[in-house]
Amino acid sequence: MTQMNITGRATRIAIIANNKYQSRRVASKLFAAFKDDKDFYLSKKNPDVVISIGGDGMLLSAFHMYKKELDRVRFVGVHTGHLGFYTDYRDFEVDKLIETLRCDKGEMISYPTLKVRVTLEDGRTITSRALNEATIKRIEKTMVADVVINNVKFERFRGDGLSVSTPTGSTAYNKSLGGAILHPTMEALQLTEISSINNRVYRTIGSSMIIPKKDHIEIIPKRQGMYTISVDNKTVHYKNVAKIEYWIGSKKIHFVASPFHTSFWERVKDAFIGDLDS
Ligand code: NAP
Repeated sequence: MTQMNITGRATRIAIIANNKYQSRRVASKLFAAFKDDKDFYLSKKNPDVVISIGGDGMLLSAFHMYKKELDRVRFVGVHTGHLGFYTDYRDFEVDKLIETLRCDKGEMISYPTLKVRVTLEDGRTITSRALNEATIKRIEKTMVADVVINNVKFERFRGDGLSVSTPTGSTAYNKSLGGAILHPTMEALQLTEISSINNRVYRTIGSSMIIPKKDHIEIIPKRQGMYTISVDNKTVHYKNVAKIEYWIGSKKIHFVASPFHTSFWERVKDAFIGDLDS
């Protein structure tokens, strides 16, 4: 069978693995399967398909490596541990993955990403994109910040910080913060508090909020000082942040549609509940 992509050339495949022994073994097996196959071309440059081997953390790294090429790249994840949320294959299912790619017709499943723009007091702006979430925390003291949703000044937050997550990120840090789990096909953001202060004087909503696709979130810090801004697995410290804005980006992450795709609720159960019969 000839596996050409829509441009008529061989499918370019990038294989990215973490340093775990099991991940390197899976990578070797995939290299061996594709290296002499004229329908595929192994290259980390301009790939059509990125195979990430490791876990959800590794897929996050692969996303950041190729985030400028989201329009043309499809991802596929192999987990060398448990089931995972961004991974359709386990390490013992590599043959199924090879089969899927040999029969691939370019089908994909796509999920929203989060755009983040930080504006510093000197006017500089830094824009980035998250797959899981972006958080802001104040380092030295309590963070005091106004939360504005679609131009409505919603609340004055006091606490450690705030997180805005994507639907697929809802099972990550967001869940540890007490946020809800969203099905990844729901195009919405989730704003979640990180240790808010709530007493007779200071008040925040207290629960996480699901914000629809059309809405825009702004967080305006009210104190000068150092702020820690994390976008997925990258953390940067900024002095004197004027505001940070969040919205659902126009670009989505695309995954190779897999006939072996495990139901989202099965993954949630596997990750957080386990076997009911044990
Ligand atoms: P990491 O080691 O890459 O990831 C930390 C854990 O989060 C790993 O067990 C990873 O799963 C899991 N994870 C990543 N994305 C997930 C998702 N969408 N749903 C469910 N679990 C997910 O750590 P890192 O490099 O510092 O940061 C990456 C991510 O870790 C962040 O985006 C954040 O969501 C998460 N994190 C969570 C907490 C927390 O829960 N308290 C704190 C900080 C960061 P694998 O084992 O499959 O890689």
